[in-house]
Amino acid sequence: MVDLKAQYQHIKAEVDAAIGDVINNTAFINGPAVGEFQKDLENYLHVKHVIPCANGTDALQIAMMGLGFKPGDEVITASFTYVATAEVIALLGLKPVLVDVDPLTFNIDPVAVEKAITDKTVAIVPVHLFGQCSDMEAIMDIAKRHNIHVIEDTAQAIGAEYIFKDGSRKKAGTMGIIGATSFFPSKNLGCYGDGGALFTNDDELAAKIRMIANHGQRVRYYHDEVGVNSRLDTIQAAVLKIKLKSLDNYAAARNKLASAYDTAFAATDKLITPRRFANSTHVFHQYTLQTNGIDRKEIISFLEANQIPAMIYYPVPLHMQKAYLDERYKTGDFPVTEKLCATVFSLPMHTEMREDQLAHIIKTVLEFTNR
Ligand SMILES: *Cc1c(COP(=O)(O)O)cnc(C)c1O
Repeated sequence: MVDLKAQYQHIKAEVDAAIGDVINNTAFINGPAVGEFQKDLENYLHVKHVIPCANGTDALQIAMMGLGFKPGDEVITASFTYVATAEVIALLGLKPVLVDVDPLTFNIDPVAVEKAITDKTVAIVPVHLFGQCSDMEAIMDIAKRHNIHVIEDTAQAIGAEYIFKDGSRKKAGTMGIIGATSFFPSKNLGCYGDGGALFTNDDELAAKIRMIANHGQRVRYYHDEVGVNSRLDTIQAAVLKIKLKSLDNYAAARNKLASAYDTAFAATDKLITPRRFANSTHVFHQYTLQTNGIDRKEIISFLEANQIPAMIYYPVPLHMQKAYLDERYKTGDFPVTEKLCATVFSLPMHTEMREDQLAHIIKTVLEFTNR
């Protein structure tokens, strides 16, 4: 699905030297590269504060701890997403409130969000799924009218830009009170292990988030709050600092590949190509097709038999996951999500696809749909 080895070959000398430096200086924890990467990312995103942490799931958890949510508070998120979003809500004793998504963009439906708001709602967590922003102008408007927070899960959309009606632009993760991201190796900005970060423009909140991520201490060995231990390793920061310089080029390569897929698959009505949302750029974390009258299992087996990996993100809606079964929800409650979980599959999408590989994938897919 990704070719991280080929990508590494292009930056090998720089990465090896940077990792070597960290080891030579034994600066494994909070070494200089962590602060340098933080500054570089703040500049790239035009955001006041980046707070690095250990992974994307921690970033979401720390965001909700930082905002002081209390057990029983309701947090609205999409039923079609990776489990991490709902997991941290449940872990903190908050109540996940699920809503359906838009059938074309796969992102949370603002109309459904508004309907789900109660007097217990404290936040909306839009997930910018597969690489493009949710309808943030509508979501921010709802949040403002109801005086609730927006935490953006931007693990799949770092570098994407939201385009407001007045033409102004903001980077994914910098519109809500907090943005949370992941640097998992296969993410668009991936390190060589685990990593994550939070973004905010709020000074006070940034200080609180830093404290929570550091055992709840501002001064060493004085603990004002129950916190967690969540740090970005210096080695990972050193890698990320190098890869950040190429992030926009990586997104361009992904877009080029997506356009080639789009053009090729316009030839068949048995596949629905991913729709671009007019108010966001797309960074194509995934290229996700929907089957239309063909058997998904069969096309995936056919691809696999031709050495082409294909993945299903995600096969089971959150409200049908064993750990998240809830008497409030039953099969049929989120028809768009349920249909997507039954029909989507993603093709290889990365920054190093060769022409011959692309041609082989396209030929094989069309061979299946044309038979
Ligand atoms: C990857 C991902 C996360 C979690 O990130 P980790 O670093 O693996 O903890 C959260 N939300 C979404 C949408 C993701 O894709």
